[in-house]
Amino acid sequence: MTVLEDARAALATGPLCDSCLGRLFAERSFGLANGERGHALRVAVALEEDEPFEPEGDCWVCEGESDRVEWWAQQAATAVRGYEFDTYQVGTRVPPLLEENDTLLREDVGLEADTGEALKTELNREVGKRVGDLTGAEVEFGRPDVQFTLDLSTDEIEARVNSAFVYGRYRKLERDIPQTKWPCNDCNGTGMWQGDPCDGCDGTGYRYDESVEQLSAPPIVEAMDGEAATFHGAGREDVDALMLESGRPFVIEIDEPRTRDVDIEAIEAEVNDFADGKVEVEGLRLATHEMVERVKELDASKTYRMDVEFAEPVTDEALQIALSELEGTTIHQETPQRVSHRRADLTRTRDVYEASGELLDETHAEIRIHGAGGLYVKELVSSDEGRTEPSLAGLLGVGAVVTALDVVDVQGEDEPFADEEFFRES
Ligand SMILES: [Zn+2]
Ligand SMILES: [Zn+2]
Repeated sequence: MTVLEDARAALATGPLCDSCLGRLFAERSFGLANGERGHALRVAVALEEDEPFEPEGDCWVCEGESDRVEWWAQQAATAVRGYEFDTYQVGTRVPPLLEENDTLLREDVGLEADTGEALKTELNREVGKRVGDLTGAEVEFGRPDVQFTLDLSTDEIEARVNSAFVYGRYRKLERDIPQTKWPCNDCNGTGMWQGDPCDGCDGTGYRYDESVEQLSAPPIVEAMDGEAATFHGAGREDVDALMLESGRPFVIEIDEPRTRDVDIEAIEAEVNDFADGKVEVEGLRLATHEMVERVKELDASKTYRMDVEFAEPVTDEALQIALSELEGTTIHQETPQRVSHRRADLTRTRDVYEASGELLDETHAEIRIHGAGGLYVKELVSSDEGRTEPSLAGLLGVGAVVTALDVVDVQGEDEPFADEEFFRES
């Protein structure tokens, strides 16, 4: 059958709109809208048969939905009024009855069931184009800032405003600050105990007054006019450990931001002002959704600074020999006793990349260890009663214990966290 014969057969099934007629031939002649294809074929059929031209009718296939793309686009633009966004995507829920009509039309014409383009695809694209014209935003199929879903059966539009993401590195300059909000165990974070404010947390619901999250996220939520924030860290240090020097990568996720076009340097200054010297952030940049998984999953090495106390006097010469023994060595560690009640007992191996330090007096030293992620450094010093081998205590033949531990660097093992692919322009 020729195109014209197919078109004539389609028109014989009942009144059709130009779009539904044109959709049957959507693969032909790139650069035309389906409505244009349908109109041209309708004209060609009329000319060939020398019959009076009959314009498109009340379409039995889409039941008029093809004519409503402008209305849907207006609804979409209205639904997100007040929200800034650069990218969007339009999806459509087409009622089964209308999908069935597409199948019936193709059957009646004698075409394959998947010939041409489905109503859903037509609406997604045609509404999408108009939303772009109205808002100046661009279509993105991956993870757009805004996802519209048109529901033809209810005439309702759902607009989901996706999160914005801010990447940076933080330093924690005071001890006893957890990374994220830590709900009180006594009251399960409710702040109440049998009708009274909980004693365990003075009614706050949190075990600690502050966290890195609570000290950094609020100015960002405010600047982006979002609903809430979630803090994602590249691992976390102990509550009593500091995070110093180059800091630890993190992403703050802002729910439903109304503002995305922000001055990120100004926000960084606001966060540092807000955190009042307890926490500092640097290198803030707008990031993609994928950056969350990257900071959480990328294999990272850690560098620690430790205060170490020895049970007996040690010479600097012996200390230097022991540290050089550890450097570049693979360490065998049974699960430390302090965590073995939480984790299955097993032996793991981790490499020490660098080990250095100096004796402060004959029983105290300051030590730096750069090791693979998952290395238990307190046990690397103490030997954990022989469960870590080799260890500083074992090599020295002297008891050794870590009295203070700070993290000074967190770096991707094979590549840096801050890959350009994971950033957005601000
Ligand atoms: Zn139609
Ligand atoms: Zn409580």
